[in-house]
Formats: sequence, C-alpha cells, structure tokens
Amino acid sequence: MPTYHLSVFPLAAWVRKRIDKIHRSFLWKGKAETNGGHCLVSWPLINKPKDLGGLGIINLEKFSRALRLRWLWRAWRDEDHPWQDAPCDRTDRLFFCASTRVSIGDGRKAKFWHDSWLDGMAPRNLAPHLFELVARKNNPVASELLGDRWINSVTNKITTTTELVEFVLLWTKIQDVHLQPGIPDSITWKWTPDGIFSVKSAYRAQFLGSFRHLKADLIWKARTEPKCKIFAWILLQNKILTADNLAVRGWPHQQACTLCSGLLETGLHLCLQCPFAQEVWNQVLAQENFTLPPQVDFTLFPNIADWWQCAAASFPKDRRRVFNGRLQMVNAIFTSLPTFYMCTFLLQPSVLKQIGKFRKICLWRGSDINGKSKPKAA
Ligand SMILES: [Zn+2]
Repeated sequence: MPTYHLSVFPLAAWVRKRIDKIHRSFLWKGKAETNGGHCLVSWPLINKPKDLGGLGIINLEKFSRALRLRWLWRAWRDEDHPWQDAPCDRTDRLFFCASTRVSIGDGRKAKFWHDSWLDGMAPRNLAPHLFELVARKNNPVASELLGDRWINSVTNKITTTTELVEFVLLWTKIQDVHLQPGIPDSITWKWTPDGIFSVKSAYRAQFLGSFRHLKADLIWKARTEPKCKIFAWILLQNKILTADNLAVRGWPHQQACTLCSGLLETGLHLCLQCPFAQEVWNQVLAQENFTLPPQVDFTLFPNIADWWQCAAASFPKDRRRVFNGRLQMVNAIFTSLPTFYMCTFLLQPSVLKQIGKFRKICLWRGSDINGKSKPKAA
C-alpha cells in the first residue's frame, strides 16, 4: 500500500514524521510509543544504506521521490502515456534532470532549457542567470534553435557581465549541436549500467556525496544472527549504554567496570581491554583454533573497529566470516546485562556476584546456566 500511495502522492511532512516515529519506536522499544532516551543512534544515520555505515532502513522522503520519478521517465519513454502532467514537484524535476542525459535527434521532445542535452547538462544549469531572463522556458529544442529564437529572447535583456559570459558559453556549446530530422530525441538514466531507470538506483543516487561514518562490511558479512549484527553495529558507534554513555545522559551508573573493578566501563574496555574480556577472548579463539598474530594486541588499539578489522584481516577469507560471527556473539554476551539493568538501577554487590556467575556459566557451559559443576575458568 505505501508503495502505491507514495508513487502518486507526495508524502505530507506530518505523515512522514508519524510513520518514522512508529518505525523508531518499534526498532528501539518494540512498542508503538517511545522517547528520545531509548533511541541510541540518530534516525538519519539509521536511514543510510548499510555500505555507508547505516542500518539501511528506508528513508521515506527519498523513497517516495524515487517512486515518483518513474512518471517523468515514462513521459519520455512511453509515447502512449495517458497523463499530461506527472505528480512531481520542482525538486523531483531538478533531480530527474541531473540524473539523465538527453541525446538530441529532431529536437521536438527535449525541452531547450530544462533537459540535459548539452554534454549531459541542462542550459538552465549552465547559464542560470540567463535562464532568469527568459519568458518562455518550456519550448522544445527544435523550436528554440529555429531562426535562433533563443538568442532573440535574451539578447535585448542582457545587462551584466555574468549574463554575457553565460550567453557566450551557451552559444559556443550549441554550435556543435545539429538536429537530425526523423530521429526522435532519446534519454538515458545515469545511475544504471544499461541506462534504464530503476527506483532502486534513483533511491541510492540520493545518497551520493554522503560521508561513510562507519566501515561496517565486517558486521553484515559475518555468519551470525541479525540481532548480534545490529548489536555490533551499535557497539562500533560507541552508543551502547555502558557507564560512560550513562554518565553523558545523567543517568545512574557505576563508576568502575563491574568485572574488574578497575577503569570506567566503556564499550572499548568492556569488550576488549578488560582483563576478564581478554581472558574470554583467548579461550574462545583457542576453542575455534584462531591464533591472533602479536601485532593484534588488545591493548594497542584505540577503538574496537580498528582492532576488529586488523584481527579479521589476519585470517583467510573463508575463516573470516566465522571469526566475525563469534566476535559479535561474544560482544553481545559481555554487554547485554549492563545495557538493560544499569540504565535504570545501581547494581548491588550481591547482584554483581550473580551476574559474574551467570556470565562465567553462560560463556563456558552454553545455555546450562543452572549447571551444577564448576566453570572451567575463573
Ligand atoms: Zn573491566
């Protein structure tokens, strides 16, 4: 339903906000309503495609634009198109113009000022000041070139040097264009190899120029459960609710790591630099026959992502996915309890003891948390 609706009607801002709110609440809380405190990562970052460091949740505004562009594409390619005007706004048309290249045939279809027919650029973009002077902006190329009508429409209005420079630039480019009677104008889409429009490429093109804030390939290619992948994605952005982040929010928190009673609990400390964590790593990696080279030392890296990348690179490709999966699962075990409990309560010593026991048994004996025999390691 949203797809059909969005392809015809531009989404009202309030509707988009309301739908995004429901998405957000479901993602972070599993409920219909939530507040900002539960949202660990900003919504625009979540909307980014996975290869740009995001979670790949669809951005409704961009998606609806990509859907609507199909009308403009069909108006070009489908001669029997029943509608005279497409349900597209000014931004849609500008984006379509920037995403297409028009090859001139007889010049009857392409619009002189709006379509990208001069080396893939539209005259309105090549000469924006000159464009402002034109009275009739929607005439086709053939009509404007006939008897140099486009020149007559602007020459008496040019008053500044900028307009004159733009006029000369445009005139020079147009000298190379020759109409070919009997051959219709054609259009190609810039963002696909075959030059044919697709909604997927139109959506993706709207992220061009985005900064990749996180290299997350290791996460999504790992052989493990999706919930572990999403957890690792939050962890690499240092957004899990460890003591440092709880302090930033002004929420109750422990001052020292609950495992070693040493430094402040951060994602980096809890998963990598804590002596307890390092012992667990050594045991888990030994169990799976992974041997880390000396340069991949736990204490040498300023963040988890760098250590992870360096460690993964030291294994052959077929073993790398298994290693990445194990890494995400172990990280989830380390951090899941503080995440849920410590955001609300100050942990009592007796509770800490229980948690320590739970972790040891969970790590060394799998799901048998009520195991009667002692764990293998302290
Ligand atoms: Zn510690």
